[in-house]
Amino acid sequence: SRQFTRPLNDLSNQFNTLLSAVAGADRVFDIIDTEEEAVDEKGAVPLPNMIGKVEFKDVSFSYEKGGDTVSNLNFSAQPGETIALVGPTGAGKSTIINLISRFYEPEQGLILFDGHDSKKITRDSLRKQMGFVLQDSFLFQGSIRENIRYGRLDATDEEVVKAAKAANAHFFIHRLPKGYDTELSQDDAGISQGQRQLLSIARAILADPAILIMDEATSSIDTITELKIQEALQHLLKGRTSFIIAHRLNTIKNADQIIVIESGKIVEKGSHEELLAKKGFYHELYTSQLEKNILLKP
Ligand code: ATP
Repeated sequence: SRQFTRPLNDLSNQFNTLLSAVAGADRVFDIIDTEEEAVDEKGAVPLPNMIGKVEFKDVSFSYEKGGDTVSNLNFSAQPGETIALVGPTGAGKSTIINLISRFYEPEQGLILFDGHDSKKITRDSLRKQMGFVLQDSFLFQGSIRENIRYGRLDATDEEVVKAAKAANAHFFIHRLPKGYDTELSQDDAGISQGQRQLLSIARAILADPAILIMDEATSSIDTITELKIQEALQHLLKGRTSFIIAHRLNTIKNADQIIVIESGKIVEKGSHEELLAKKGFYHELYTSQLEKNILLKP
């Protein structure tokens, strides 16, 4: 049988394709909703407001029959924890995110949200409690104000500004000639990738979800903006369970748990200090990236 829906990357590509064609946020989501939503299991019920516990119990999944993209994943995120997913390219980090957000379903094992089996709850009720900060793709054509307000459509102008301030985005927005009324377009030269990430952080702060999913930007971001992002993250991550595909040393260091993935398996799990002391795969990854200067951003 066909697997459910498409992965996160495809979803954000979808956003990019739509950017130039579509003016309003409602319209964007209409299109994505109709195309993307798979049928829930019979008898699936809405997930009550989450406290934020997420557990993987022996989860295996493959995009192709007979493969093993990820296998026997076991971990448990306590409410409010920040979980950094770390590992080489192709290891399975995005796949784990796709499973948490239920763009795909486990072939074996269970994913539990506050103890509820994911297959017994409706996708819609789960996603409503999730916020996404992806590399840079979730901005649509429209004003900065509209783009932030998309986090919560009934937010007032004051609430939008408050979220932008908490996200460290206000400082650059208010310096733009048109401020919050600045129109964003796909190839907007006036707004850097780092600033785009600040805008999606502002949107997520406004949405205030129980679960946050983040794919940290990999491309180089200037040092000042990088510091602003790290500071904004402290606001964003507070009080919610967060899963971050992490590329930045600061994010990884501050995580409650680092889950190291290699070839679809969890090879190590623990805090930064614990994993360094182990002198295993993480230690190796860390020192090699440090040498290559990848993780040195501030
Ligand atoms: P990166 O750091 O490069 O983003 P990752 O750790 O996130 O890598 P995944 O994107 O989860 O890795 O990919 C895990 C494996 O699954 C890879 O071998 C990848 O080629 C494969 N894969 C990913 N998405 C799909 C898909 N939609 N269909 C088939 N195979 C896929």
